Amino acid sequence: MSEAQPPPPPKGHSDRHARTRRYFGERALETLAVSRVLVVGAGAVGNEIVKHLGMVGLGAIALVDPDVVVESNLNRCVLFRPEHARAKTPKPAAIAETAGQLGWPTRVETYARPIEEVPHEAWREIDLTICGVDDDHARHYLNMHLLGFAHETGYSRFLIEGAMGADFTQMRTCELPGTACLVCNWTPEYLAGVMERRRQQTCLEFFVEARAAFPSISTQTSWVAAQMASEAIKLLVGLPTYRSTGTWPAGDDNRLRPHLGVVLRSETPQHDVQRATAMRNPRCVEPFCREPLSTH
Ligand SMILES: [Zn+2]
Repeated sequence: MSEAQPPPPPKGHSDRHARTRRYFGERALETLAVSRVLVVGAGAVGNEIVKHLGMVGLGAIALVDPDVVVESNLNRCVLFRPEHARAKTPKPAAIAETAGQLGWPTRVETYARPIEEVPHEAWREIDLTICGVDDDHARHYLNMHLLGFAHETGYSRFLIEGAMGADFTQMRTCELPGTACLVCNWTPEYLAGVMERRRQQTCLEFFVEARAAFPSISTQTSWVAAQMASEAIKLLVGLPTYRSTGTWPAGDDNRLRPHLGVVLRSETPQHDVQRATAMRNPRCVEPFCREPLSTH
């Protein structure tokens, strides 16, 4: 006697994107499927960003990181496997491999090198950049490059940055130029120090990580990366409307309205979240930030 067959799933339950479609709408899914995001940093935040954007069906991610997977990454990097650590797999390749196994439609392009050394093709047709690095030289380079592109093309560029320490995580959404940029609060002396440290590092035959790693568990990175990915989806979905009309899509709710210039900071031990707007500095150390965008 054969066992009873389970009932067929209710209508819509056999569609991977059914609930996403109900949340954002069909047009949003179509836009996400043809969008491309540059993700700089394939550490804990980069892992979570790829996870979220892969699950909503993003078209492509260009993933940049010069590091390889090590055993101590495994407490918070959801797409790394013990075999990646044993084989010292480059972080972007490890993420691409696992993402492929999970069946997401996203094409993950890998660049196992610092952002300062990625080829021109990585920058092509980028709709949004996500920065998850803890290196001020890379942060400065990325900021300068995106502002330069904006002035070259007459279109502002969008960037979402995540940062964290032992007891906090923080993220912000930037329009470059428009909102405060990543270096608006730097002094000329601080910038000179960043450049000098980099010069000293590149003189070394082998780069040695000088900073002690701060304590961190996956709950912190998951929280901040979820806020970042949420803003990323809104920006990507609304960008075609913004480019053609100058305004973000209006709706009955705020699911598609990005929070440009807003800094969201979570103090983990205090169970506290603060929200503030970063002030643009008219005397920013980055000249491209000070110049208004001239449209062609
Ligand atoms: Zn600035």
